[in-house]
Amino acid sequence: MYNIHKFGGASVKNAQAIRQVASILVDQVKSQGIPALVVVSAMGRTTNKLEKVVDACYSEQPALAWLHEIIQWHHEVVDKLGLPETTHSKVNDVFVEGEWIIEDAGLDEFNYVYDQIVALGEIAASTILCEYLRAINLKTDFLDIRDIIKTDESFRQATVLWDPSQKALNQWWSTTSKQVDIVVTQGFIASTLDNRTTTLGREGSDFTAAILAYLFDAKTITIWKDVPGIMTADPNKIPSAQKLDQLSYLEAIEMTYYGAKVIHPKTIKPLQNKQIELIVKSFDSPQTNGTIINDHPIVEYPPIIITEDDQYLIKISTLDFTFVGEHHLATIFKLLADKHIKVNVMKNSAISFTVCVSGLKNTIEAFIEEIGNVYKIEAIPALKLITVRHYNHSVLKDLLSGAEVLFEEKSKSTIQYVVRPLDD
Ligand code: ASP
Ligand code: MG
Repeated sequence: MYNIHKFGGASVKNAQAIRQVASILVDQVKSQGIPALVVVSAMGRTTNKLEKVVDACYSEQPALAWLHEIIQWHHEVVDKLGLPETTHSKVNDVFVEGEWIIEDAGLDEFNYVYDQIVALGEIAASTILCEYLRAINLKTDFLDIRDIIKTDESFRQATVLWDPSQKALNQWWSTTSKQVDIVVTQGFIASTLDNRTTTLGREGSDFTAAILAYLFDAKTITIWKDVPGIMTADPNKIPSAQKLDQLSYLEAIEMTYYGAKVIHPKTIKPLQNKQIELIVKSFDSPQTNGTIINDHPIVEYPPIIITEDDQYLIKISTLDFTFVGEHHLATIFKLLADKHIKVNVMKNSAISFTVCVSGLKNTIEAFIEEIGNVYKIEAIPALKLITVRHYNHSVLKDLLSGAEVLFEEKSKSTIQYVVRPLDD
């Protein structure tokens, strides 16, 4: 059995960060006496840079030159870590696949090419981390997660096939060496049943750690972050934000649903289903307690504030004063679902239905145009959605001072406001 740890891009953003990951892992393995299974994201902003390379393949920009800048940057990290020539060759082997894909990119579907190229960030990061851990004499195995996590063929937002993944994991476990300190693998990426690389959606590495915990029946997983734990608000925006020591699965899933960025929304379900504890801890000060998420009921939470930008508020009214009935709502929701548009808040009145939605700009605009053929539409883009869980009067007063509230919806535990951002 392993203890599962996940390190995101910020925790492996340069050579110094990789040294810090290694020192955390040495402590963990020593103090717990159990090997660590380490899930790692692409280093720093590599995923964003690789996305640009993919875009470049379809827009006559110098994709290959941009890929070479990324490769060069990885080689510099290898040098700063003092790793030998063999590691440089391994890094080249990883990225050479990208060069081949770029040559033929125009021939294939965008989302497929995206997954083949963007996945290289995770493979490179895990290769370098693995080589560094070996260099400091930890017995380290490299696991290609694409041999374990199997998905359907929805490139860029693949759905996990649990049974084939469980089978692949059991098969791997029955043959792998148990005499290791650490196994390093990749977050975010997976593969189809015929071994084509897929990805689980941006920021999906947390979900990978949860999938592995589920498949392994692990007791806990630890996600290392550049914040002290899960906070009551974004400390960059609300300086009085405080760390939450403990959360229930239910509160955590609600928070991610409302847009809290600290853990990927899909992470909680597999953990809750098998009662696996999740610990979110500070990468910079590993000695301090982070946030523990489990099934223990919490009597009282402080107000928790979650904000999300890039919202559209869309008011849909009937043209002839008929009531907005069930069949109208069915049409509207079918179109929203078909276009993968996320509904964040909604309300209906006699002749209108108002929704606050977010998602890809072009699909929302297509939705507005299509629905506008049948209904009267008023749409306002670029709004901010503020959600407060466990609200009280004083927190709302401070939060809303000066804001123009366009829409409000409340239940006993949650209040939501759609506001015009103040800063522009
Ligand atoms: N590297 C991927 C991303 O930046 C996955 C992750 O970091 O979780 O989206
Ligand atoms: Mg990331």
